Amino acid sequence: MISGREALARLCEGNRRFVEGERNRQRVTDQVHRDELVDGQAPFAIILGCSDSRVPTEIIFDQGLGALFVIRIAGNIVAPSGIGSVEFAAGSFGTPLVVVLGHSSCGAVLATLDELRRPTESQSRNLRSIVDRVRPSVEPLLGTGLAADPVALTRAAVRANVRASANQLRHGSELLEQLVEDDALLIVGAEYSLETGEVDFFEGVPHLE
Ligand SMILES: [Zn+2]
Repeated sequence: MISGREALARLCEGNRRFVEGERNRQRVTDQVHRDELVDGQAPFAIILGCSDSRVPTEIIFDQGLGALFVIRIAGNIVAPSGIGSVEFAAGSFGTPLVVVLGHSSCGAVLATLDELRRPTESQSRNLRSIVDRVRPSVEPLLGTGLAADPVALTRAAVRANVRASANQLRHGSELLEQLVEDDALLIVGAEYSLETGEVDFFEGVPHLE
C-alpha cells in the first residue's frame, strides 16, 4: 500500500484532472478492472464527505471502482457509525489516508447557522441530530466579527466543521489514534469549492519536503 502522502498526491492529481476536464473514464467502466475487484478491494483513501448532490466523491477526484472508501452524510459529521466505517477500512485494508471533505455553501452548516440565530421547535429529532453535531464548532463564530459578514461567516463555519470532524476522528477511536501515532494513517481536512471544482486540503496536511 502507498503512504498517506502519496495517497494525498493521487487525490490532488485526480482533482486537477476533474477541474481541467481530462477525465480518466477508462478506470471507471473497464470490465477487466471490475473483474479484478471481485475478490477484494484496497482503496487508497477514505473520504468522509457530505451527501450534497453537487459533491460526488469519485467524480471530483476522478477515481474509478475500488479506489475510494466513501462515507457520505449531510454536513460530513462524525457519528459512531462513521468512526466504525473508518476503522473498518483503515484496519481491514490498510488504507493510509482519511479526508474529511466539506464544501462551500453546505446546507447542513447553513441550517445550523439559521437554527442558532432563529431557534425553531419544528425540526425533526433526526434532523436535529445533524445540527447538534455541527453546532459546537460553529456557535463560537457568532460571537466574533464574522457574524456581520454572512459570506465570511459561512466560509469559516464550513472549515470549523471540517476541523471538528477531523479531530473527532483523530481522538474518537483508540484504533485510529494508534494508527496516526504509528504514522500509518494521515487524517486531513479539505474543502471543495462548488464554484471552481477545486479541493483545498487546508488542515492536517504535512509539510512537503
Ligand atoms: Zn453539505
